[in-house]
Amino acid sequence: MLLDLLDPKERCPFCFNLGRVNQKCDHCVHGEQIFQRIGSCFDYAGPAASLIKKLKYGNQPHLAKGAAAFMVAQLHQLNWPLPDAIIAVPLSFSHWIERGYNQSDLLAHEMAHLLKVPVWNALKRYSGDYSQTGLRVEQRKSLTKQRFKIRREYPFEDKKILVIDDVLTTGTTLRRCAEVLSERYPASLYALTFCRSLD
Ligand SMILES: [Zn+2]
Repeated sequence: MLLDLLDPKERCPFCFNLGRVNQKCDHCVHGEQIFQRIGSCFDYAGPAASLIKKLKYGNQPHLAKGAAAFMVAQLHQLNWPLPDAIIAVPLSFSHWIERGYNQSDLLAHEMAHLLKVPVWNALKRYSGDYSQTGLRVEQRKSLTKQRFKIRREYPFEDKKILVIDDVLTTGTTLRRCAEVLSERYPASLYALTFCRSLD
């Protein structure tokens, strides 16, 4: 599979939208930033999208290994600091039961293995987070059930945290994660996804 990683030089460094070279996009100039940086490997299209669909819905968890290698390569290209810990965006319990694994957690563990840093199982989704399929973007954004809680046993203070997810869609999920994580005063929060949705 021949795939070119998205070029960070063509992207807003804060949200990874296409923008002026190495400058904040219009959205980030006006909006509040909760992550130091957000990045992705690929647009959600072509072979990258099929890989994620197979990983997510095709019961092929072994694909996480190759995907994570791309994510580590993108991390190096982005020149972000090596994190002290990696945290995966958790699945709802019902999705986890359905699928038997959390694809973001697999990505996090494969990346952690390559980078030799720990994965912290520090976030938990409140139950009652029903499938978002069929909801409009506006409804998804206002979905208040998408909430996370943090497990207390991890020493967040002054640590560089990298949050991992498979696909960035509206950014609401990552934002909600960052909101609870920042309550524990990490030194920095970065977020990396394998794909970013084009809408
Ligand atoms: Zn931006």
